Amino acid sequence: MKQPSDYVSRRAHAVDASGIRKVFDLAAKMKDPINLSIGLPDFDVPEVAKNAAIEAIRSGNNRYTQTQGIAPLRDRLRADLTREIGRDVGDVLITSGVSGGLFLAIFATIDPGDEAVFLDPYFVMYKHLLTMAGGKSVPVDSYPDFRFHAERVERAITPRTKLLILNSPSNPTGVVMSPGEVQAAVDVARKHDLLLISDEIYEPFLYGKDADGDMGGLPSPMKLYDKTILLRGFSKSHAMTGWRLGYACGPEPILSQMTKLQQYTYVCAPSPLQYAALKAMDVPMADAVNAYRRKRDIVYETLSKKFELVKPDGAFYIFPKAPAGMSATDFVTKAIERNVLIIPGNVFSERDTHFRISYATTDEKLKQGCEILNALAG
Ligand code: PMP
Repeated sequence: MKQPSDYVSRRAHAVDASGIRKVFDLAAKMKDPINLSIGLPDFDVPEVAKNAAIEAIRSGNNRYTQTQGIAPLRDRLRADLTREIGRDVGDVLITSGVSGGLFLAIFATIDPGDEAVFLDPYFVMYKHLLTMAGGKSVPVDSYPDFRFHAERVERAITPRTKLLILNSPSNPTGVVMSPGEVQAAVDVARKHDLLLISDEIYEPFLYGKDADGDMGGLPSPMKLYDKTILLRGFSKSHAMTGWRLGYACGPEPILSQMTKLQQYTYVCAPSPLQYAALKAMDVPMADAVNAYRRKRDIVYETLSKKFELVKPDGAFYIFPKAPAGMSATDFVTKAIERNVLIIPGNVFSERDTHFRISYATTDEKLKQGCEILNALAG
């Protein structure tokens, strides 16, 4: 007789979530940890958006929306993006978070055996979604500077390569691609006729000038290459990770397939929250960005005394190298023994040499945590 576990698909078995689960298991045992592991803002949803959500529920916006999302939100996003990108970006699809957008984009494009190239370290979901879709992940080592090296990326391209996935600002490194790097990525995509997916979920969190000068907004491949699927969302920008709201735009033949797949998976993004997100778009978030810039400075200045690290220009992560002679997992275990929760690099990478800190926490906890990590580094 079959056991329940015998019914599990090969597809489900192929996804390995052990790395991050180990961290969560360890975290569950900690009492009041200094938690530098969380990938979400430490501020709350703006009041205006909370009230708009309540009002939307009260006034009866509780049914399915159109698969692609409510028209006023799509229209607003299209207008804003069109202004920023400098050309009409076409229809916008409201997704269930950027995760939903990634799922739809990968499932709408990847056939079994197709390959997708992205920089290592990478956001964990890319690999697992590609596995689920029957595709092949091709991570390209970007150590030690975590920048886009076109020649390394080109070496990874084969006749089966279909996608180049970019993530700037990056989770887990915080690195922001310069205009020159974005141009280089687009040149590679054009030369090899690849589709680009640009995961720009951390787009509002930009802290500085780049080597190429003042960035004046996020350098996005969407401005240069029309075979780009742009993915953004509200989870990080407005601290609403639990609201599950993201959006996608890109070439119509792909966007319409993503919409079709959404119809049979997520159906639509949460209805009342779409109305609230529209209101949230008018809330200035500059204070949050300034607070994170200051936290970035605290983390960077403190840890650079003891650790090898790259100064991040965006998101709210930093990715230092573990002390010499120690794997990241060993170092993280030691940090956890001292009540500081961080994530080992092998969760985001083929290497286990670095660790991720999320500095989206109070300045006080951040300083405490960094001092403990410095002490552990000896
Ligand atoms: N992309 C990146 C790079 C992320 O870090 C995250 C969230 N951690 C996501 C996508 C997914 O975000 P969400 O589904 O909450 O919009």
